[in-house]
Amino acid sequence: MAAAATFLRPSARAALAGVWLFVWLSWAAPAPADPLPVFEVAPGVFVHAGRHEETDATNAGDIANCGFIIGDDAVAVIDSGGSPTIGHRLREAIRVHTDRPIRYVVNTHMHPDHLLGNAAFLPDQPDFVAHGNFQAALAARGDHYRQAFDAAVGHAAAAEVRIIPPTLVVSDRLELDLGGRVLDLVAWPVAHTDNDLTVLDRQTKTLWAGDLLFMERAPAIDGSVLGWLRTLDALAKEPAARVVPGHGPPSAPWPDSAADLRRYLGRVVEGVRKVQAAHGTIQQAVETAAADEAPRWRLFESYNPRNVTAAFAELEWE
Ligand SMILES: [Zn+2]
Repeated sequence: MAAAATFLRPSARAALAGVWLFVWLSWAAPAPADPLPVFEVAPGVFVHAGRHEETDATNAGDIANCGFIIGDDAVAVIDSGGSPTIGHRLREAIRVHTDRPIRYVVNTHMHPDHLLGNAAFLPDQPDFVAHGNFQAALAARGDHYRQAFDAAVGHAAAAEVRIIPPTLVVSDRLELDLGGRVLDLVAWPVAHTDNDLTVLDRQTKTLWAGDLLFMERAPAIDGSVLGWLRTLDALAKEPAARVVPGHGPPSAPWPDSAADLRRYLGRVVEGVRKVQAAHGTIQQAVETAAADEAPRWRLFESYNPRNVTAAFAELEWE
């Protein structure tokens, strides 16, 4: 090609060089990630709704809600998606709307479908923000999460996973100022997990509840069923007009949208107590507690037996 190019006029040679440079750059540069579809639930508040599925190679962990809030000076990511791939796609979605710096990546709790996208934001050097109990919980589960992700999604995707410790910890309450916009973060007592964190955008009264609110998809009790019910009572008093659930639609009215979750958790408690009062077994509780809730929730068969088992252990010590 170099020999042929010498027969061309200088302007043609320059054009040809430009074409080759373009071809080389296209080959050498990583393809930009496809922006994740997001919905603006309130001015400057963008949410991507994950699928009601278990993580696999097809969905790449896109099974939980995630998104971002844009202030005058900076952006906060609230949950980063269930894989580095989803994190990269969330980052591209942010760049569609703003070029302001991504200063915070907030994780609402330590479950992998909410945080494995964190690695995509390392180049932004944000503060990674989480509950005071988050790091211990993640240290205990991190290897398991990585292995489970490897098995479900594949080695190549798993090689990109980074378990990133928080750089900013919330032990009670914390304000994050994005410039003309303040976020109120609250660290809750044990409920869905022992490290649930919520984010309230004061400007739009949007409450980001993480997995303290499941809608449509069966919830998972990984903390305390009684604690979760108490936390829902306290959360109902937050001055919010709408909520972003951890699983479910991008947003819903608050607090009305917690009614299904509250009823389900109540049915679990009621069903387990009934079996325990009759000196029945865990198996009897698994077969009966909250059984009438089955048609109301996706993935119910995968989660209700585990929830009843967890509640049985918790309520046994009352
Ligand atoms: Zn969760």
